[in-house]
Amino acid sequence: MIGLIDCNNFYASCERVFNPELEGKPIGILSNNDGCVIARSNELKPLVPMAMPAFKIPPHIKKQITLLSSNYELYGDMSQRVFSIVQDYIIDTELYSIDEAFLHLQHQRNPVEYCRNLRKIIRQSTGIPVCVGIAPTRTLAKIANHIAKKKVGSQGVYYLDPNASDFIEQLEQLPISEIWGIGRQLSAKLSNMGIRTAWQLRNFDAHFIGKQFSVVLERTILELRGIACIELEDIHTPKKNIMTSRSFGKATNNIDDLHDVIRLHASRGAEKLRTQQSLAQAILVFLRTNRFGEQQSQYHPSIVIPLLYPTNDTRHIITAAQEGVCRIFKEDYSYQKAGVMMLDIVDQNKRQLDFFSQTEDTETKTRSNQLMSTLDTINKKMGRNTISFGGINTNAQWNLKRDLLSQRYTTRWDELPVVKMM
Ligand SMILES: [Mg+2]
Repeated sequence: MIGLIDCNNFYASCERVFNPELEGKPIGILSNNDGCVIARSNELKPLVPMAMPAFKIPPHIKKQITLLSSNYELYGDMSQRVFSIVQDYIIDTELYSIDEAFLHLQHQRNPVEYCRNLRKIIRQSTGIPVCVGIAPTRTLAKIANHIAKKKVGSQGVYYLDPNASDFIEQLEQLPISEIWGIGRQLSAKLSNMGIRTAWQLRNFDAHFIGKQFSVVLERTILELRGIACIELEDIHTPKKNIMTSRSFGKATNNIDDLHDVIRLHASRGAEKLRTQQSLAQAILVFLRTNRFGEQQSQYHPSIVIPLLYPTNDTRHIITAAQEGVCRIFKEDYSYQKAGVMMLDIVDQNKRQLDFFSQTEDTETKTRSNQLMSTLDTINKKMGRNTISFGGINTNAQWNLKRDLLSQRYTTRWDELPVVKMM
């Protein structure tokens, strides 16, 4: 059984913890330099659309609402507090974004009650409201979380059971665009084929979809049927969440190794931003000790580093990520996993309209764009990491465990097959 825990209106909730007067009122959080709205409380949602530049909000609405600058230091720390409680109760958890994590609940006899209790503890100790969706697969757990947030009487936790009588109804009500990993473009294509609801997609020929679209979408269909087959790394919902992380082949407590691996993740994250033409406003860096190593003391730190202005320039993202590692690293622990997330992603093209916020001067910006696009072109043509920042150490301990790897006969000069003449 898999759970998805998600903090409700996370940034707004963090602000309310320390300013209870804001409870029940419409609040909006602004991007760096107070450019546009990046997070909204429920009360603000009917009043102001997401990503609206602050200066465009009509004065009569501005009067009724509270706008705040983004306080990433606070949000990062509150996230760390919430998820350290979660990890105390459920050992096997995977952080998915600043305010979400997947929970492996196979050891809980009554997962619904267990999570309701966890929810109370989190609210009591941090002030942050959370909801949990529970289901046999990640895709369904995401859907269950949406239901938990809306359904009266769910007490913040909902179990979506594929065998229950309301399962069909729940999926029939859900537009495909709400399904994990299905972005706007994909839902438009599916919609043209007459697939509009999660229930219709669930019943479509999965093999056909796999051939027409992608293996991941084929797996999404299986997941909707209750068959777990999607890993965290498989899904990259455009715009919302970019995470690059990996477990190491061998644990390490060497900060140079961690800098290497974080640099690699930061570069990949920046590359993904550029591919989908977007910019990040902050990044989250995390480290983890081995959660299955029961003998070892555990340390799962994370930190949010704001970027000076929204960017997808690898150099800025690496610098921020390296700073993050320095601030959370403690040498007494052996780390098994590290990752970087891009936060509060905005559309690169819409961004230019937001002339009130501070951006790089045009010349620097143009040069940065040229450098990055040259980098991407070369790496696309000649192979990943042909050009990288600081070099990639392929022998480092953190590389994937691949002791049983056969030689890369066709792509490496030093691994070519050898022919011996007798
Ligand atoms: Mg949330």
